[in-house]
Amino acid sequence: MSDLAHPDAYRVPPGGPADLAGRDPADRSWFPGTKKEGRRLTKALNRRLEELQELLWAEHRHRLLVVLQAMDTGGKDGTIRHVFDGTNPQGVKVAAFKRPTPDELAHDYLWRVHPHVPGDGEIAIFNRSHYEDVLVVRVHGLVPEDRWRRRYGHIVEFERLLTDEGTTIVKLFLHISKEEQRERLQARLDEPDKRWKFSQADLAERERWDDYQAAYEEALSRTSTDDAPWYVVPADRKWYRNLVVSKILVDCLEALDMRYPDPGDDLAGIVVT
Ligand code: AMP
Ligand code: MG
Repeated sequence: MSDLAHPDAYRVPPGGPADLAGRDPADRSWFPGTKKEGRRLTKALNRRLEELQELLWAEHRHRLLVVLQAMDTGGKDGTIRHVFDGTNPQGVKVAAFKRPTPDELAHDYLWRVHPHVPGDGEIAIFNRSHYEDVLVVRVHGLVPEDRWRRRYGHIVEFERLLTDEGTTIVKLFLHISKEEQRERLQARLDEPDKRWKFSQADLAERERWDDYQAAYEEALSRTSTDDAPWYVVPADRKWYRNLVVSKILVDCLEALDMRYPDPGDDLAGIVVT
């Protein structure tokens, strides 16, 4: 598993461009194997992720923030389910950012976000995030352009605050095609156990596909930094998406070079009776 190179090609270079239009959502060029082999590898990576998360929790020194963004049906929920399957719920928390409440709207847009960042030993997964404030907010003109434009700078600085204080940040954009979204929305209508996920509003958002792609292009380009990089994960194939996400997270945790804490006392020779 470890002889697989890091999927660097999916990383948005600092300062951009994200080049979404030039990236194939069905790309699978990083992994040469079959779907079956890919799934097997994902399982092995997930087991490694479990170990690393245990270590992160035990060491209680580092913090990991994973930001997940995607168009509707892009696979945020499925990624969380598959990639974090088997991790210890103590130490992994998911924060989902929906339409702001009146109380949230009465504050600056980062006010509701900051309390959910990870503490020592924790992984926090953002299912949507502060990026909505330059995405949906831009597409729907919820605040004037001069206001949301200044947010790129705030966001870069906010994330710098977190990384300076010891948080590792990985940002993942699950990149699907418009045709794949059509199929997934249709499946939500056709399959009874998926219908709960369907919202009429998703169709109206789909009409603005190009506006969202433009908003994502600029957001990713302006906020991918060395310390808080964006990855554009090809997400038309779910198995490939899970594989790439697992690999990125495992590599990121491996790089922290963690150790189980030394208990301090000399425990040699102690026998529990
Ligand atoms: P879902 O992820 O399907 O549960 O949908 C959540 C909805 O909340 C999406 O339509 C988001 O665009 C919306 N949302 C999240 N954050 C914001 C925000 N800051 N302003 C407006 N809408 C938001
Ligand atoms: Mg939805």
